[in-house]
Amino acid sequence: MLVDSHCHLDFPELAENLPQILSLMQENGVAYALCVGVNLENLPRILALAEAHAQLFASVGVHPDNETAAEPDVDSLLQLAAHPKVVAIGETGLDYYWHKDQPEWQRQRFRQHIAAARSCGKPLIVHTRNSAADTLRLLREEGADRVGGVMHCFTEDWEIASAALDLGFYISLSGIVTFKNALVLKDVARRVPLDRLLVETDSPYLAPVPYRGKINQPGYVRHVAEEIARLRDVSLDELATATTDNFFRLFKAAKRV
Ligand SMILES: [Zn+2]
Ligand SMILES: [Zn+2]
Repeated sequence: MLVDSHCHLDFPELAENLPQILSLMQENGVAYALCVGVNLENLPRILALAEAHAQLFASVGVHPDNETAAEPDVDSLLQLAAHPKVVAIGETGLDYYWHKDQPEWQRQRFRQHIAAARSCGKPLIVHTRNSAADTLRLLREEGADRVGGVMHCFTEDWEIASAALDLGFYISLSGIVTFKNALVLKDVARRVPLDRLLVETDSPYLAPVPYRGKINQPGYVRHVAEEIARLRDVSLDELATATTDNFFRLFKAAKRV
């Protein structure tokens, strides 16, 4: 049994095909998926998905790329996070790839999310791109180690991975680890302790080999897990059991059904 720890089933590419998506999850042994929020406007759609389907969980956050989204304050995040199927705060973090000017509003927004996570005790889903040093600095400054979380769609090197592990964070790998040229990431996939590893699709983006370039979906997380199992020389079963246990340990509010 596998869990896709990060997907966007509310995005139009996926929302239109929900019945087929859920059935491919089942066929591929993907028992659960976490639908991650990127703004507050679309949150009702994510909550509706999580309410309607026992195998789906939700999170609340405003993505660092979402410059024009309504700015969340700690209180509104806390209110929304009180929903029983919301298991995390995020995605949040920093993205200096799309915002090369490294704007202060991103760091301010990130701090609000960390404060909300600490206050409700739900872990953080952290997005970081071209911003690893600042991301780690803010996590430390705001005491994120007290609540923990996951570095999602991890694409950094082992040094950054071990700094995040030291803060008590988990590392989640996406389909990028299946790409032939992702040698640094394959090295990370071999070295992260098995009890701190998660797998994800970040669908509809970043489909793993052999679907690279196509629309991704949670069922494909099986191909991510197969590649990591191969790299670590363990069985798919062992990797699936460990990453699923890790998911439910980290997202304590998530109940297995
Ligand atoms: Zn992200
Ligand atoms: Zn995402």
